[in-house]
Amino acid sequence: MKTIGMLGGMSWQSTASYYKAINEGVKESLGGLHSAKIFLYSVDFDEIEKLQNLGKWKETAKILSKAALSVEASGADFLLICTNTMHKVAPEIEESISIPLLHIADATAEKLVSDGVMKVGLLGTQFTMNQDFYKGRLTERYGIHVMVPETQQQEIVHNIIYSELCLGKINDCSRQRYLEIINQLYEQGAEAIILGCTEIALLIQQRHTEVPLYDTTEIHAAQAVKLATSEYQAVE
Ligand code: GLU
Repeated sequence: MKTIGMLGGMSWQSTASYYKAINEGVKESLGGLHSAKIFLYSVDFDEIEKLQNLGKWKETAKILSKAALSVEASGADFLLICTNTMHKVAPEIEESISIPLLHIADATAEKLVSDGVMKVGLLGTQFTMNQDFYKGRLTERYGIHVMVPETQQQEIVHNIIYSELCLGKINDCSRQRYLEIINQLYEQGAEAIILGCTEIALLIQQRHTEVPLYDTTEIHAAQAVKLATSEYQAVE
């Protein structure tokens, strides 16, 4: 079995979801007492979030590249960045290491394309919803048409992520607001919604809506399990 490298802590609430999903996936795939081999580097999110707000992305790239290098040196076979937003600096991180990076947008796009979903709504931080590092990748590499909420709704989605979900606060009113935004995107023609922030599934799950949801945490974790276990032969 391959060893999974993870850059986490952004926020730790969603890293905990990754850890659980990956271990459950390995157990499901290999059975018995099998669990995932993981090197996790968990950063202090306060530091990262402050730099995001100041637009100091180069500084965040330095911190995460250094972390990625130490994950590689520890023996990880490939790397996950456990946040959609910080894929903004994925090219810099990728350049600093020699193990492969399993990009969250690629994992998500492959699932969408294999399900025949080519027009989606995207929820995430304002960085993810507005900038091209994520949307652009979905469109340019996979031909997926991406819709985002209107500006005021983007603010609501963004603020709930940082002031509630990253702090582990789950609020019914916030769920309602998200559901309204999801419904609006659906009415405007989105065939499905990407939960493009790794904390959103803490608030909204498929049971809350009939609109198909694509949870990036679950998809990314499942791809990592596939990659880690693909050539693995369990000892009889
Ligand atoms: N985990 C979030 C994401 O998937 C947001 C936190 C961050 O800024 O990294 O985008």
